[in-house]
Amino acid sequence: MANRILITKEGKRYFVKDISKDYHMEYGFISKADLKKKQGQVKTNTGTELGIFEPSFSDLYRKIKRGPQIIARKDIGLIMAETGIGKNSIILDSGAGSGALCCYLANYAKKVTAYEIREDFLNISKYNAEFLGLKNLTIKNKDIYQGIDEKNLDLITLDLPEPWNVVEHASKALKSGGYLVSYSPTIPQAMDFANAILERKDFAIIKTSEVIEREWEMEGRKVRPKSRMIGHTGFLTFARKI
Ligand code: SAH
Repeated sequence: MANRILITKEGKRYFVKDISKDYHMEYGFISKADLKKKQGQVKTNTGTELGIFEPSFSDLYRKIKRGPQIIARKDIGLIMAETGIGKNSIILDSGAGSGALCCYLANYAKKVTAYEIREDFLNISKYNAEFLGLKNLTIKNKDIYQGIDEKNLDLITLDLPEPWNVVEHASKALKSGGYLVSYSPTIPQAMDFANAILERKDFAIIKTSEVIEREWEMEGRKVRPKSRMIGHTGFLTFARKI
């Protein structure tokens, strides 16, 4: 079904799922005839002007179904920038969870495979992959602690309770120079993972980081950090197969 995004000058966004009928909102409604427009501006019946366009990947991404806690975009950003993945990259992600990370990666990479142990979460992540129209993402019902089928990978991303259980499997599945990245909400997990890497000869540890994003209000002369921010999401540990 065709979707549209409507946006106010202040950046307030509306996701229109069904353009075959008028869309009602706090500023009145936009007629279904106007919703056919794929770009430009439209006016509500009460005269409020809104921008209109087809949703981008990130507009659709904001509408994905949520099961387990997803990785924040600020953390996805660091994973992508640090590992430099791109159109030729072959990636494995586990656990798929809600599919947030594997879907984002699939939007940039050549091919992404994700493993998820729970069938209910497998269904959520598959639903999201389809909603986002990703054809290069395969999500399997598998326990990654038992091993990895894929070979010659550029990147493996882990968001698991015990990521250290994957290090041996990752060593066989990664190409030389490939990255192993683990996301953990707590330091004991990040610590045990880093120590598992440090003990081995076949991985170089790159770094552990946490990303702190502080949003600012920019309104006339009211320019200051927003009073609320997300205090903590998780720690990212980066290693490379050598
Ligand atoms: N990164 C995901 C969220 C992952 S939550 C996102 O951004 O949406 C962690 C997931 O790992 C859960 O869904 C859990 O079921 C799954 N999981 C736990 N142990 C696993 C294992 N051994 N193999 C595969 N998946 C596992």
